[in-house]
Amino acid sequence: MSAVPSHTPAQVSSRPIWRIATAIPGRRNAAVLSCIVLAGIFEGIGIATLLPLIAVIGDDGSKTNKISQLILHALDRVHLPHNPIVLLAIIGGGMLLKGALSLLALRQVGRAVADVGAGMRLGLIDALLKARWSYYVRQPVGRFAGALGDESSRAGDAYDAMTQLFSQLVQATIYLIIAAIASWQLALLSILVSLIMVGSLNRFLLVAKRNARTQNERLKSMLARLTDVLIGIKPMKAMSRQARFGVLFLEDLKVIKRAARRQVFARNTNRSLQEPILALCLTFGIFMALQVLHLQVGEVMVMSLLLAKTVSIVGKAQMELQNVYRSESGYWSVFDAIAEARAQRETAAGKRPPSFERDIEFRDVGFSFGERDIIRHAGFTLAAGEVIALTGPSGAGKTTLVDLLLGLHTPTSGNIFIDGVPLSDIDVIRWRGLTGYVPQELMLFNDSILMNVTLGEAQFSRDDVERALRQAGAWEFVAQLPEGMDSIAGERGTLLSGGQRQRIAVARALVHQPKLLILDEATSALDPVNEHLIVNNVCGLARERGLTVLAISHHQAWMSVADRVLKLKDGHLAVENSAARVRATG
Ligand code: ADP
Ligand code: MG
Repeated sequence: MSAVPSHTPAQVSSRPIWRIATAIPGRRNAAVLSCIVLAGIFEGIGIATLLPLIAVIGDDGSKTNKISQLILHALDRVHLPHNPIVLLAIIGGGMLLKGALSLLALRQVGRAVADVGAGMRLGLIDALLKARWSYYVRQPVGRFAGALGDESSRAGDAYDAMTQLFSQLVQATIYLIIAAIASWQLALLSILVSLIMVGSLNRFLLVAKRNARTQNERLKSMLARLTDVLIGIKPMKAMSRQARFGVLFLEDLKVIKRAARRQVFARNTNRSLQEPILALCLTFGIFMALQVLHLQVGEVMVMSLLLAKTVSIVGKAQMELQNVYRSESGYWSVFDAIAEARAQRETAAGKRPPSFERDIEFRDVGFSFGERDIIRHAGFTLAAGEVIALTGPSGAGKTTLVDLLLGLHTPTSGNIFIDGVPLSDIDVIRWRGLTGYVPQELMLFNDSILMNVTLGEAQFSRDDVERALRQAGAWEFVAQLPEGMDSIAGERGTLLSGGQRQRIAVARALVHQPKLLILDEATSALDPVNEHLIVNNVCGLARERGLTVLAISHHQAWMSVADRVLKLKDGHLAVENSAARVRATG
């Protein structure tokens, strides 16, 4: 079963959350941040103006208050009267501007959140498609399903939560500044109460964070495993051996359930304890203000409002931090997947355009997977237009040999030459464009037969597809389907028989009229009649159009028509003249 790479919590927690903002262009970040800061300032001005308003209405001598003095002084400078209407207008105006700027910020954030999600998905798809072959072999595909879906969405949510967090921190700071100007005792009290609240509830935050991470890791591994199981479900169903997997998933689900329960409990506890703590501190503060500091009632009310606002914003910031923690794992997960795939990017070292007119030569080629030698000193030349059969016991390295020829693996020693040019100098991406390839484990997409043959490439006409289907011996049964080549092949091709699917795959390899056709046991599931049909068609293409054919097969059908037979055994390659060659020369 697949092992999904995961981070130890220590690794993850050391990652700064602000890095999420780097997923967005700096200009957009700057726009969001300045809208948030300006909104905070306008709200601050609105709230602060409550102090002079109370002073003016009550005329209770609290004009001595610093904030009131400042604002009334500012009014004098622009020749406005100290009048409740003017002050109310400032309060209303401040709030209105705050609202407008917040809306503006939210619009930007909305776009940014969508951009983060889309950008990560695009980045992942791009990195995946450009990775080298050896990378995919080690990957559980379900991992990417999760990364492309939920995790990318959560990466966007993480940005959203982060801007919210920032906005609350800005507001809290502005309120604190106002409080500090109005009275340093008030500022101190605000800080103290905030610290008490954050400190006493921090435990719940950490619990939520830890459980969010557990949940994410388990979900990821479960998705990867489920995909694996579903791809290979048929034999398990056929032998009634699927039960064990059900049990495995139950284990995962149990852990996920427990983590979810703890996370939600911690979050809700955090939220519901904030209010009582705030209320307690507030009553204590009002008592102190009235009884010990002997402040005016009106002023105390406004200051209580400031205090309550500051502390509740700090509380909200704490909740938002929890949201960041909950969603950041999605961001990092996709971020890592992209980085990993990018590091495995296939770099076409060679730049020369490929030409295949003469021959392919393997010169003393060796290849090993780690310690294990698969191919040793392989040397042979394959002339253009030849039909070659490659045989050998299973596990001998036949598929690997073809992978080397396609540049999917690089030889550990020796080199491969195409028309005398080392493959390492050739642009392999374009070289592969000259080949038609039918793999041993073929796979059809849940799409029409037409799309399965063209792979969605628009340059192929329906006539091209029909020609390829005819050459592959598939036209007869395709034409009989109710919708012909527009019939759906079914997910992983399950609507067609094994032999029919193979013929569609052969048509796919022929539609672009390749110069080299590689068939990896591609006709082995066919009945003798249909196998002969394909063998004859393909040999016809070799004779008439100079198509070069490399067919991995044990079947007599290929042995008897091949110009030469290559035999791979114990890492060594032996060349035999085939029956056809013996017949021709004898
Ligand atoms: P064949 O096609 O002749 O049946 P393969 O070329 O598929 O054989 O495999 C040759 C050997 O290389 C096998 O023993 C297989 O276990 C090993 N092998 C194939 N792919 C890998 C890989 N990605 N990593 C390690 N070993 C591999
Ligand atoms: Mg093979």
